[in-house]
Amino acid sequence: MALVKKFPPEASAPSTIHPDYLSPSSAKSYLSCSLRFFFERVAQIRKPTTIALHVGKAIHATLQSFNLARWRGEDSSEAIMEKAFSSHFLELEKTEGPVDYANEETRQKVHSCAWNTVKAYMASGEVSSQMPLGVEVGMSAAILGLPIPVRGVIDLVQHDLTAVDYKSAAAKPDAGHAAFDHELQLVTYQMMIEEATGDAPPSLDLIYLVKTKTPQVIRVKTPPANEQRKQRIADLYKIAYEGITTERFHPQPGMQCSWCQYRKECVGWCRR
Ligand code: SF4
Repeated sequence: MALVKKFPPEASAPSTIHPDYLSPSSAKSYLSCSLRFFFERVAQIRKPTTIALHVGKAIHATLQSFNLARWRGEDSSEAIMEKAFSSHFLELEKTEGPVDYANEETRQKVHSCAWNTVKAYMASGEVSSQMPLGVEVGMSAAILGLPIPVRGVIDLVQHDLTAVDYKSAAAKPDAGHAAFDHELQLVTYQMMIEEATGDAPPSLDLIYLVKTKTPQVIRVKTPPANEQRKQRIADLYKIAYEGITTERFHPQPGMQCSWCQYRKECVGWCRR
C-alpha cells in the first residue's frame, strides 16, 4: 500500500486508498486499531525495530531456510543452520534496523537466546515427524462480496495439507487464547488451501518457539473451520476493506496501546 497521507484526512474527503489485496496481517492490524494501521501502513511512519520483532523475523527466516533445505534434500545440519541464522540476524539488522538494543552485550545475549530457540525446534519431534509439502507458500482466496482478493504466505504446508504458522514468544502460550487470537490468519489459510486444492486441511496449526531459558516448542492445533467460522472471517475482511477505503481511521484504545510505537502521533489525533 503506497504512502498517500501524512495525517488522517477529513471523513468526507474522497478516498485515495485502494489496496490491490488484503492480507490477514493487514486486516487484523486495521481491526485492532485503525489509527495505528494508518500511521504504520498508510503514512508509513518508520519506527526503530523492537528486539522482539527483530528476533521473530530472524527465527522465521532461519526456519524458512531449514525447511527449504529439507524440502530440496540439501544440507540442513545444525552447523549450516547456525551460519544461516547469523546471516539472517545480521542482514535484518541492516535492512530493517536499527534495532533498539541497550548495548552490544544485550545484542549478543539476544542472538544466543534466539539461536538456542531455533536449535530446540530443529531437535524437536515436530521436525522428524513432518516433511514439508510446501514452504512459504503464497496463496490467495476470493471472498464473496469483497472486490479484492485476500493474499497470504503460509510458513509451511504439511503433506496432509495441515497449514502451519510459526510464532516466537517470550512465554508459554495459552492454547485456547492463541487459537482465538490467530483465528483470522488460520481460517484464511484454510480458505486459501481449499480454493487451491479443493480439499480442507485436517488441522490449522501454530508452532510456538518459546524463548525461555530452556527453550520450548509447542504446537497448538485448531480444527478446520465450519461454514459459520469462515463467514465470520469473510465479514471481518469486508469490514476492514470498507473502513480502509472510506478512510475511517481513529484511536481504539486498549491493551495494544502498551506496546504501540505511535502513541506520540496518536495523542495529536483529532477529527478534523
Ligand atoms: S496508542 Fe492505542 S489507540 Fe493510539 S494508535 Fe496506538 S494502539 Fe491505537
